[in-house]
Amino acid sequence: MAAPIKTCFYVTNGNYFRTKRIARIWGHFILRPHSVRVRFAPSPTGMLHLGGLRTALYNYLFAKSQKGTFILRIEDTDQTRLVPGAMDKLEGILSWTGLVPDEGPRQGGSYGPYIQSQRLAIYQENIQKLLQNKTAYPCFCTPKRLELLRRDAVRRGETPKYDNRCRHLTSDEVTERLEKKLLHVVRFKLEHTTDTWEDLVKGPSSHDVANIEGDPVLMKSDGFPTYHFANVVDDHLMKVTHVLRGDEWQPSTMKHILLYRAFDWSPPHFAHLPLIVNKDGTKLSKRQGDLHVENIKNRGYFPEAVLNLVTKIGGGFDMDGTNGMGLDELTQKFSIEKVKSSHGRLDMQTLDDANLEHLRIKVNGAERSLIIDQLRELVSTAYSERLGDASITDHILSSQYIGSILDWAVSEKRIIKTNDLLDSKFSFLWTTPQEQDIADLKNSPVSVPDLLHGCITTLDTVRDFDIGHVTQSLRSLIKDEKLKMNTCMHCLRKSLSGLQQGPPVAEMMTIIGKKNTIQRLKHTMDVLTKS
Ligand code: GLU
Repeated sequence: MAAPIKTCFYVTNGNYFRTKRIARIWGHFILRPHSVRVRFAPSPTGMLHLGGLRTALYNYLFAKSQKGTFILRIEDTDQTRLVPGAMDKLEGILSWTGLVPDEGPRQGGSYGPYIQSQRLAIYQENIQKLLQNKTAYPCFCTPKRLELLRRDAVRRGETPKYDNRCRHLTSDEVTERLEKKLLHVVRFKLEHTTDTWEDLVKGPSSHDVANIEGDPVLMKSDGFPTYHFANVVDDHLMKVTHVLRGDEWQPSTMKHILLYRAFDWSPPHFAHLPLIVNKDGTKLSKRQGDLHVENIKNRGYFPEAVLNLVTKIGGGFDMDGTNGMGLDELTQKFSIEKVKSSHGRLDMQTLDDANLEHLRIKVNGAERSLIIDQLRELVSTAYSERLGDASITDHILSSQYIGSILDWAVSEKRIIKTNDLLDSKFSFLWTTPQEQDIADLKNSPVSVPDLLHGCITTLDTVRDFDIGHVTQSLRSLIKDEKLKMNTCMHCLRKSLSGLQQGPPVAEMMTIIGKKNTIQRLKHTMDVLTKS
């Protein structure tokens, strides 16, 4: 009989390999068992605000700077607070900012489902472990009893907390109540602790949570877990290595660590990002509409500028300013040790500065034609009826014209966002003035048709249509006609744009160009002489 072939297998994370070397390479490069895994775990209870975006961004930057994995997990176990459509919007906003998860509800992944309401069986299975090792217990207290406890505490001027009564039920009492199918929750036996954890942002931290709270609920009577329980179970099962979250969660961390201990699991590292306050140090309200990322997006800001604004709040970079940087550069420059531990002030002015900087980069760089196309779209929609005849429309909507307008607006800092160019003060760029805006020129102390006639003739002869030459020719015309400079400039600005105020007349003329200028002046002249 032939001898059996001797085969040696090595095992790495459940995979079998013929040699130790292949197993090691697979384990290191393919499975990366120790690689960084972080998660952004929002509750879909409304629009994403800047604080939430900051948490998502720092998780993303930390993951990417460590060549790790960025997970999106939807924490929707509080079914009473769900807002329909909020999850889709949240994913949409994340992808707008470029913070695309590696694993999540849309992307999938090996540790799903990534929506907590789809993981109820997992929580049920895990709560049994804590019931069995007696670190958790069923609690049969009725909402009425809990309300009485609460009122008593308030009357005594104390912070309401559960008195842990059901912790002391005998096992017979528990069995009897369970057999009667009494409605119950599962609570965690919260022990006093003086332990500390090393927070990556705040340094050594501790919190004897049992001093303040009674035993917390882990499982509600409707079979849904509470935030604390689901969060710990999922972070463990999803192999999360670092929890980066807002400062407001710091008081919960020791409770989470005690839960890990009850399971005999090792906790992840924690980093609590600084609290965000208004520029003047006052408390930020999540209801402030201008803090919702979607509103900022709808106002026409670039995602990069919003990210720059957010990075200004809490540090994390060597340099003071991150304006002009995109996600890749932010990732390269980010380091968790540089995140500030003190409150971060939100200064919305920096959003404008950052946006203009990105607009400048885009207009002068690879995205120039994209921005031109976007502006063309905006202008043709906003002014569809009023652009003028075909030859003028072609000119106004040409890439060359739109590009020159952008160059001027950006270099002269006339705008912050592309869509600012649709503001009525810039209507002169796109359309002839409305009759009602120029009607009062008939009451001018000068004869405007004569002035316009003279201007048209003079400007027609200007070969280099730049500010210097245009100014010079207008000045000599007005001087020769012995007219008042201010009155004439006012009439010309109105004739050209219908506006009382705006850039200097010669600047206006050179921005819109010679042909356009002459056409506008002729149009106004016609309107004034016709009526
Ligand atoms: N669901 C929690 C939130 O809405 C997550 C907190 C955490 O990151 O642990 O912010």
